Amino acid sequence: MANLRFEVVAEAFKKRPVEVETPKVRPSEYFAKYVFNRQKMYKYLPSDVYEKLIDVIDNGNRLDRSIADAVAAGMKLWAEENGVTHYTHWFQPLTEGTAEKHDAFVEHDGKGGMIEEFSGKLLVQQEPDASSFPNGGIRNTFEARGYSAWDPTSPVFIIDDTLCIPTIFISYTGEALDYKAPLLRSLHTLSEAATEVCHYFYPQVKKVQTNLGWEQEYFLVDESLYSARPDLMLTGRTLMGHDSAKNQQMDDHYFGTIPERVQAFMKDLEIQALELGIPCKTRHNEVAPNQFELAPIYEECNLAVDHNMLLMSLMKRVAHKHGFRVLLHEKPFAGVNGSGKHNNWSLCTDTGVLLHAAGKTPEDNLRFVVFIVETLMGVYKHNGLLKASIMSATNAHRLGANEAPPAIISSFLGKQLTDLLDHIEKADKEELFALAGKKGMELDIPEIPELMIDNTDRNRTSPFAFTGNRFEFRAVGSEANCASSLIVLNAAVAEALENFKARVDALIAKGEDQTSAIIDIVREDIKTCKPIRFDGNGYSDEWKEEAQKRGLDCEASCPVVFDRYLDKESIEMFAKTNVMSESELKARNEVKWETYTKKIQIEARVMGDLTMNHIIPVATHYQSRLAKNVEGMIHIFGGEEGKKLTARNVKIIREIAERTESIERGVEALVDARKVANKIESEREKAVAYHDTVAPKMEEIRYQIDKLELLVADELWTLPKYRELLFIR
Ligand code: ADP
Ligand code: MG
Repeated sequence: MANLRFEVVAEAFKKRPVEVETPKVRPSEYFAKYVFNRQKMYKYLPSDVYEKLIDVIDNGNRLDRSIADAVAAGMKLWAEENGVTHYTHWFQPLTEGTAEKHDAFVEHDGKGGMIEEFSGKLLVQQEPDASSFPNGGIRNTFEARGYSAWDPTSPVFIIDDTLCIPTIFISYTGEALDYKAPLLRSLHTLSEAATEVCHYFYPQVKKVQTNLGWEQEYFLVDESLYSARPDLMLTGRTLMGHDSAKNQQMDDHYFGTIPERVQAFMKDLEIQALELGIPCKTRHNEVAPNQFELAPIYEECNLAVDHNMLLMSLMKRVAHKHGFRVLLHEKPFAGVNGSGKHNNWSLCTDTGVLLHAAGKTPEDNLRFVVFIVETLMGVYKHNGLLKASIMSATNAHRLGANEAPPAIISSFLGKQLTDLLDHIEKADKEELFALAGKKGMELDIPEIPELMIDNTDRNRTSPFAFTGNRFEFRAVGSEANCASSLIVLNAAVAEALENFKARVDALIAKGEDQTSAIIDIVREDIKTCKPIRFDGNGYSDEWKEEAQKRGLDCEASCPVVFDRYLDKESIEMFAKTNVMSESELKARNEVKWETYTKKIQIEARVMGDLTMNHIIPVATHYQSRLAKNVEGMIHIFGGEEGKKLTARNVKIIREIAERTESIERGVEALVDARKVANKIESEREKAVAYHDTVAPKMEEIRYQIDKLELLVADELWTLPKYRELLFIR
């Protein structure tokens, strides 16, 4: 029996690193080569058009349609100089990844020929025939159209022969069908709310920018091996596979030497990413074998999200060129670490103040405390919703599993900051500030050194950790669009800041001094949001108990967690911050539940197929071989001695029979459970049924299959094993 597994393993071993030419010039020279950034705008646009466009980008003013034609003409000129023939509106539908529909720059010239054209109208707005994108019913009502509209704050870029235009994707009725539209709304509201609060301290602030620095974790698998694993190909993860005897226990992969083929891939990826304006900075091995990480320098949040989406699709293309497949799934392999996407999030004023960083003056430090505490207030109040924002069928494998953040949102602050908040909470108010002549209020907040947080005690188990001048949201899934979690975080913090300001202003209106009012409210809030603060081991069982006592959301079932989007407080918060309407939320949840169901459904089908086409035939084949041996032995040695000598084989034959029988029963039960679930009308109930009745059956089947893998002769096993998938590169 020819075994594809051995062919692909042999093939994988032969692969050599693909040669990657280092550009002759320095990275700073080819950085953003394929991006229509300010430099190019300046070069290709008339100066008045340039000024107007910059105003739109910097100040969020509306784009004057009258300049759109001139902008499009400049873009087209630049694009054509780079060999571009097509353009596309590039958007982020509610599936993972991005969508694009390419159109050529051609139009009829009215004389039977063609001219190359790209008008302002085509730049600004399009109507992609996108009826098959998930919309949760929004577009099934009376008007099925969806529009994509240009987001001038994210520059257009070139991929191959195509000019890509970042756009939002909305319905005819204005409801968001994507991630970008609500993200932009949340950023806008957060800027306004934070600016207002900043005015207590710095009256000159005009706006506040949200920064995002994501760290992308991923696995690489040799492409030949990948092609022999239908489960990886169809579901993005291995549905079966016994642990490799060696995996990550030696910790020898983490930060180790990057393997040669991988090094070539990374180099290629980075060059191409830099050309697209993605400021890649860090690359290293991650904890699990064949797991790696890439991180750029942080950028403005909307742009950073686009860059992450772009990078994920770029990774797939570049990996292919190097004979790899990139796995973005949060848990491609059981028993080793999964992949996340740490979102480093911070706020910065247009005057350059990082709002979550301690400052030099007492005033700066009060501002620091306010922004830390109000961020915690937002996270505390909406901890269940934040969890919902990072929850998915795939990330669910990671949350709550051994090495990943638990399915409970809490925040790590570190000792210094904890002590500071405790001090402010407990100190006598009179003690906290004293009049000091003309200098006004002098706060007795212990001196906070500028580099205050020692990264040594960074708690890797915390889903939302303070890291010196920012928070790091670590529970985000590697495959996810970062925007999903940021929409919630931004809106929650905006709401908290608005709420804070309203209460402070009320005290001031009653005649209280401003600093005194701020201290009063901050002290109140430090007490209120205390349950969200947790510096201990987030992976421990004690924490689960403790979190329950504290009233934090401990629900772990993915489809049930999605309910948080429709809680009264969530709907109110999204409405108040103008981020999403109730109908948008409802529609999105329909999509979430449906996506969940489909993912599990596909996994269950693949599991059934693999069992019937690979596992059972191979196991039975081996069993027959053993049976023949037993027969032969008895023939040679006679009944008694033969039986004694073949006792071990008989034991294995029996074990295989029992396990295959159990697998077959499992697969039948799996099919039955699906049949029952499929009949359920409600998307929510269906997803719950898939979670409660279908998914657990796959685990039971897997257990038996993995045991069989250990029993059956290696030469017969057809699916590449964990040791091959994880160690060949
Ligand atoms: P880690 O030790 O967690 O891997 P790094 O030092 O590699 O952290 O930084 C991770 C990310 O955090 C990078 O993208 C970096 O640019 C980003 N980052 C640093 N400072 C800030 C900040 N103030 N706001 C947002 N992101 C930041
Ligand atoms: Mg990090």
